[in-house]
Amino acid sequence: MTPDTDQTTGEFRLSRRTVLTAMVAGGTLAACAPSSSEAQTSDAPTAASVRTDGVSDVVVIGAGVFGMWTAWTLQKQGLSVTLVDAWGPGNNLSSSGGESRLIRTEYLGNRLYTGMAHESLPLWRELSDRSGLPIFHDCGALYLYRHEAENVQESFRLQQDLDIPIERIERADMEARFPQFSFEEISYGIYQPTMGAIMARRSLQVLAEEFVAAGGTYIQGKVMPISATGEITSVQTEAGEEISGGQFIFACGPWLPKLFPEVVGRRIIATRQEVYFFQPEAGNARFDYTQMPAWVDAHEEDLHYGFPSLENRGFKIALDIHGAETDPDTQIRKVTESGEAAVRAYMSKRFPILAERPLSETRVCQYENSVSGNFLIDHHPEFSNVILVGGGTGHGFKHGPAVGRYVSELATGTLTDPAPVFALSEHGFHPEGAH
Ligand SMILES: Cc1cc2nc3c(=O)[nH]c(=O)nc-3n(C[C@H](O)[C@H](O)[C@H](O)COP(=O)(O)OP(=O)(O)OC[C@H]3O[C@@H](n4cnc5c(N)ncnc54)[C@H](O)[C@@H]3O)c2cc1C
Repeated sequence: MTPDTDQTTGEFRLSRRTVLTAMVAGGTLAACAPSSSEAQTSDAPTAASVRTDGVSDVVVIGAGVFGMWTAWTLQKQGLSVTLVDAWGPGNNLSSSGGESRLIRTEYLGNRLYTGMAHESLPLWRELSDRSGLPIFHDCGALYLYRHEAENVQESFRLQQDLDIPIERIERADMEARFPQFSFEEISYGIYQPTMGAIMARRSLQVLAEEFVAAGGTYIQGKVMPISATGEITSVQTEAGEEISGGQFIFACGPWLPKLFPEVVGRRIIATRQEVYFFQPEAGNARFDYTQMPAWVDAHEEDLHYGFPSLENRGFKIALDIHGAETDPDTQIRKVTESGEAAVRAYMSKRFPILAERPLSETRVCQYENSVSGNFLIDHHPEFSNVILVGGGTGHGFKHGPAVGRYVSELATGTLTDPAPVFALSEHGFHPEGAH
């Protein structure tokens, strides 16, 4: 742990600007930095390169899961990186805030996201191992299906081909193995024993600590929309601080439309999502993560998902259907009576023993949904050294490490296999306005 971590609570605190220059000069960063000639092998005009004028090679705005892993990965590649966030890594307003996120490679046969989740899982595990803190809980993940479907079978084969442990379980066997559930209407499940829960906020705070300890600069400040044209050389915070850099990566989640109203605008829409925690009866440990997997009820109307009690916080449940459109700055972060009633009605069917239990906690967050459901990762069409990253659309967290790798390659000009679905043009943006 670094001095920024409270030894008793593990709570992470960054000073407003933490710069560990000593480590840059002689330590970790210098040790892993390629020579500037190595770092400049790409001749792409927008590629990040190692600068010698004291200005950061890259400024990453937003320390949610996408920005944090991007900053961390660029730093590992030897670039100097400044990370800026309005409220801090994993803050409560951000889409990456809160306790837990599911990691699964089950994506109904979608190769891109199955592959990215598969790429990311070992990096989450390594982070957990390195930190000595529980960041990944491998409680397993169970998906409940009502009907046979070609895409479920295809997904199964795809994951088997990738050597991902996966198992189909018929209802009778599920009843014996997972007595916490009532499997009404369900005919079979797909179980992934090596998946589980990532401790969301903690993971970002630990990554931020690593980033700063390795010489990265962290600045807490709200970056203002940019107004120049062509190539920008700096951004300004609301407090008037100017932050210079070679490249700028905006990973601002649901705030991206506010920063780039013309280009992002309604290509990303934030929706209100309520999350509930219920405390099982005293002495009942069956809903603990050591005894129960995370789960998804894969049904278009009942699309609930949840987690066993992680670190004694209670059984977590939420509806995955997109809620009402919202604003991350102003939305009221109190759950509604109707939302609670709806979740209890669902639980009376699937987890009857918990349906009348008291709430132990609630949260209101937002999804930042792209119009296509795919991530939005692309160069800004007007600012040649600006990259936009967002559109996690309710499933982005698990992919943080793979997104960090992808964006870093885009920034350094080394991306060999761009995913067309991430491009602005695939989200309805065409520079000539034909959309
Ligand atoms: C309730 C809920 C459950 C979810 N469950 C899962 C799950 O189980 N599995 C999964 O994989 N994904 C899940 N997701 C989705 C996932 O959490 C998000 O897609 C992901 O966290 C988005 O990360 P981000 O970095 O793009 O955005 P954010 O986390 O919102 O990060 C953006 C950051 O930018 C900062 N910022 C914004 N504007 C500025 C500015 N002007 N200047 C400086 N900083 C700024 C913010 O403070 C914030 O920290 C869930 C999301 C929610 C809300």
